[in-house]
Amino acid sequence: MPVPLVDLTAQYACIKEEIDGAVRRTIESGGFILGPEVTGFEQEVAEYLGVEWAVGVASGTDALRLALMACGIGPGDEVITTPFTFIATTETIVQCGGKPVFVDIDPRTYNIDVARIEPVITPRTKAVLPVHLYGQPVDMDGLLAVIRAHGLTIIEDCAQAMGAACAHKKVGTIGEAGCFSFFPSKVLGGYGDGGLVVTGSADIAERVRVLRNHGSKQRYYHLVDGFNSRLDALQAAVLRVKLGYLDGWLEKRRERAAWYAQALGDIGMVHLPYEARPGEHVYNYYTIALDGPKEVRDGLRKYLEGRGIASAVYYPLSLHLQDVYRHMGHSPGDFPESERAQERVLSLPMYPEMTQEQTDEVAGAVRRYLESKG
Ligand SMILES: *Cc1c(COP(=O)(O)O)cnc(C)c1O
Repeated sequence: MPVPLVDLTAQYACIKEEIDGAVRRTIESGGFILGPEVTGFEQEVAEYLGVEWAVGVASGTDALRLALMACGIGPGDEVITTPFTFIATTETIVQCGGKPVFVDIDPRTYNIDVARIEPVITPRTKAVLPVHLYGQPVDMDGLLAVIRAHGLTIIEDCAQAMGAACAHKKVGTIGEAGCFSFFPSKVLGGYGDGGLVVTGSADIAERVRVLRNHGSKQRYYHLVDGFNSRLDALQAAVLRVKLGYLDGWLEKRRERAAWYAQALGDIGMVHLPYEARPGEHVYNYYTIALDGPKEVRDGLRKYLEGRGIASAVYYPLSLHLQDVYRHMGHSPGDFPESERAQERVLSLPMYPEMTQEQTDEVAGAVRRYLESKG
């Protein structure tokens, strides 16, 4: 039985009528750029997250870039972040003129190790950019305690963690700005690219709104050099439908994670996803780690592929070792936990419509391979 990593057609089948209606409504309205669908979605998602302002943009990457700019990150500013993330987290810092400063991860959660942040703070440090990786919130209380005395800005990369909460506060609403992605495979995905910046600051919201629309509040009158980075009305219409299902889908993700944990828990070589605080993880990805050399992980991946079971490695090369950052002068060994994780992690199929037969199929294949390797 083949098992895909995600199955967006299965999800569409469950909500087809509502989606088709929303798409038709938008097309028939003749309004495709900003307008009531985008404003409606912004209000609804702000309410869902419990935040004052939400501004729809063209992608999660643009959400980061515009949020960094709106928070005043510019040339020479240092932004502390994790090396174990997607490149969008740091390319946007660089595009603002800033400099990413890496801090190693906590090997259990794969998130930035907040205990290691203080020593790298310098007079040039302006912000911290925590990434809630795989859907598990960063230790935000710990982070706030560390940076309180330093007056730093927090910009959260919530691309993988829509709906996840730290002690009843949803991620994205804790720092000065939160950035979300609606890339189709994210927990709340559109049918194309999309993104969102949320903030409790009217100023930051206004700056992002101006930046996303060519630096203008009034058409053909420009205040700053901006971008064409608006959330499409069609995507907003789709996302309004999906937002209503999000909590149910997150519940189903957690249930599937529990099925996996039950089926994989006794395999000695498998480290299950660690939940730092129970109930907070939304499992955008169900990521296990395997003991032993990289060959074990890569061999398992091949074995699964041969049985039609998809898997993925997020991420195979830590950012400090990427060619693009060679000029930063890092070498292997600088961030050992991140480097260890890149050789050990494997994300298994995870989506709300998965059946227990499917999680059992995946878990059974993982077990057969690892037991054959002894
Ligand atoms: C997906 C993702 C992004 C970028 O989002 P896009 O919508 O693809 O631009 C940024 N950061 C992380 C951690 C992501 O997973």
